[in-house]
Amino acid sequence: MNRIYAPHDASQQRYQEMVRAEQIISQQTPARQDVARYLYALPVGGNRFLASLAAQLDRYGRLSPRQWECAADNMARSQRPAQPAQAAAPRDEDPLPNVPEGHYATLSRTGNNDLDFWRVDRPAEGTYAGRVFVKRVIGGKPDTNVRRAEVRQALEAIVAAGVDAAGALYGQTLGQCRTCNRHLTDETSRALGQGPECRSRKA
Ligand SMILES: [Zn+2]
Repeated sequence: MNRIYAPHDASQQRYQEMVRAEQIISQQTPARQDVARYLYALPVGGNRFLASLAAQLDRYGRLSPRQWECAADNMARSQRPAQPAQAAAPRDEDPLPNVPEGHYATLSRTGNNDLDFWRVDRPAEGTYAGRVFVKRVIGGKPDTNVRRAEVRQALEAIVAAGVDAAGALYGQTLGQCRTCNRHLTDETSRALGQGPECRSRKA
């Protein structure tokens, strides 16, 4: 028989709990009312420390100043959006095309049969270990780092042309080794786009 009335009893009990919660919340100073509301609204089975604060508040109607402080800190943290980390993430989400360190030539996007010359650096150690740097090589000028958006475009162009083909094209066109960038002095090296030392090191 009792069972039939159980749902009613349960909702009656919940109603009384809510009335009590509202009473306790309204007894707090205005600054603490939000924190008290936060403690009462905590999900069941969540942080045990916060749950103990909520239970204490419900039982005694008050917390110590230090406990209020802790609860307020947790409330502030739970409300803070995790934006900075999320905003930075999508940028590096897609891995950059895998292009080995070296020099490359690719057809310029101007469509005039011009070539773009690139230097790809991938430091193995030091502060920048694991990162990829792309410089634009322009005759007679120091190499200049390209902007971040252009790094991806350059690496994609190299992969599209073929890493070996783009490397050889650099050496053949400029007469400089695709690996170490030194001048290629013999015919074979110029044909391959790579000097003898770098060829033997690779083999
Ligand atoms: Zn070389």
